[in-house]
Amino acid sequence: MKRELNFDHKHPILYLIATPIGNMKELSPRAIEIIKAMDYIVAEDTRVSGKLLAHHQIKKPFISCHEHNETVAAKEVVRLLKDGKQVAYMSDAGMPCISDPGYILVKECILNDINISPVSGPNAALDALIASGLDTAHFYFHGFLSAKTSVRKEELRHLYLKSETLIFYEAPHRILKTLKDMLEILGKRKAVIAREVTKLHEEFIRGNLEELVKLEQATLKGEMVIIVEGHNNEQEKFMEPKDIISLVQNLENMGMSTKDAIKKASDLLNLPKRDVYNLYHRAN
Ligand code: SAM
Repeated sequence: MKRELNFDHKHPILYLIATPIGNMKELSPRAIEIIKAMDYIVAEDTRVSGKLLAHHQIKKPFISCHEHNETVAAKEVVRLLKDGKQVAYMSDAGMPCISDPGYILVKECILNDINISPVSGPNAALDALIASGLDTAHFYFHGFLSAKTSVRKEELRHLYLKSETLIFYEAPHRILKTLKDMLEILGKRKAVIAREVTKLHEEFIRGNLEELVKLEQATLKGEMVIIVEGHNNEQEKFMEPKDIISLVQNLENMGMSTKDAIKKASDLLNLPKRDVYNLYHRAN
């Protein structure tokens, strides 16, 4: 697990600047301030971003990073950031990484111990998602889970098979309980807590649910978004017997008959139906 306080000046930061989807006046004052402080602006289309910067009377050296050169450009951006240069990325319009380039760049930065800081403002879910390093191509926003444990678990069971990246809001006094329920029902998936986004103590905590449940409550203050990897078949490969039983129960809770749940589980696990059947019926 990695905890990254973005503004403690210990690691370089790649800023992800959300730009107006239409009206150029909607670039935020903070975005303008950050752009002015940068050594380089990495842009999907340097002509489009050049116009936006010109509108705000800013001139900066550009690096081009679009869908056809993102892997190579990402390496150059990492080199510049490691060299102590200040760098921000913007796509043509709107949020980077949302049906726009940026995801490969973000992943390469995270791999190289470079922090990611979203600069957007109005929406915590998207800010958290684009800086999470988890898949941004398809996602599902759930918002707050129920405060009632039984209902919360039921909601999570319904989400078990969703392949989209899952986005949740949570209050600090409930975060550990929720993470524990997520571990129990969703399994040991990759997950990221985005805390106090755009504020002084902005932090991204990256790991998997088994690691995140071990966090100290006292260190989880403020506002938080939880981003969890969607379902994929890899997740079932290393399941223990108790997790296999819980998988069948999850599927039953999604409305399947026991017979169908055992068949679906055996398909997901690539295990003979008989083995799943025996495990399940021994436990029930
Ligand atoms: N309308 C807001 C939006 O678009 O993101 C959400 C409002 S909701 C009542 C408040 C929840 O959003 C918080 O409990 C937290 O989960 C999330 N949130 C709001 N600001 C946040 C921030 N700066 N960092 C992390 N999460 C935040």
